[in-house]
Amino acid sequence: MSLKKFNQKVIGCTQCPRLVEFREEISQTKKKQFQDDVYWGKPVPSFGDPNARMMIVGLAPAPHGSNRTGRMFTGDGTDGMGSSDFLMRALHHIGYANQPTSQHIKDGLKFTDAYMTAIVRCAPPANKPTSEEIKICSAYLHEELKLMKNLKVIVALGKLAFDQLLRTFQAQGAEISKPRPQFGHGVEVHLGGNFPILLGSYHPSRQNTQTGKLSETMLQNVFSQAKRLSSHPF
Ligand code: SF4
Repeated sequence: MSLKKFNQKVIGCTQCPRLVEFREEISQTKKKQFQDDVYWGKPVPSFGDPNARMMIVGLAPAPHGSNRTGRMFTGDGTDGMGSSDFLMRALHHIGYANQPTSQHIKDGLKFTDAYMTAIVRCAPPANKPTSEEIKICSAYLHEELKLMKNLKVIVALGKLAFDQLLRTFQAQGAEISKPRPQFGHGVEVHLGGNFPILLGSYHPSRQNTQTGKLSETMLQNVFSQAKRLSSHPF
């Protein structure tokens, strides 16, 4: 199956009743500033270069960001400090993105050698998917990883994505060291074989960026590390 067909399949998914209800409800009630927008209100497809060596894995769509615009990490803030713009500035700085902003689906954003997806593809209430929802949706991650033929490095945004990727690779036959690798910013996990290197990064949520836990330089450094590893993985 091609990545295009895979994403078409994901868009039609209704497996998580709580998330289906939430994504549709939020698309009707809307945020005041987006009252005139037609919300996407469906699972959000992955985005980027299908031949990428570097993949970003986030947590889940934001209700008024990706759930509104229909593209991952797009339109979750208008002040330049939303997680989308924070992430895009870093990707642009390193050369993965052609522009430093991600506001709407027709803004011309293009990735080179980078691809982004999430462990959960529908917006969850309070940005918190349940462990069961993560488990169900990660079947798509499992499938998608097999379709990405050139992957060398995966950047996991946050602990939930990091831990889920470890579980997914384990299910695909990777040997995970004991004690298990612990999430941290800049932590590299080399799984061996044909598995990509897993690289941890704090999530560019406002909770992290506005408290100083994650600076623009720290995020740039992670993508610089990813670029180096994807060019010379071992
Ligand atoms: S979160 Fe994933 S599995 Fe659940 S309904 Fe959305 S796309 Fe389907």
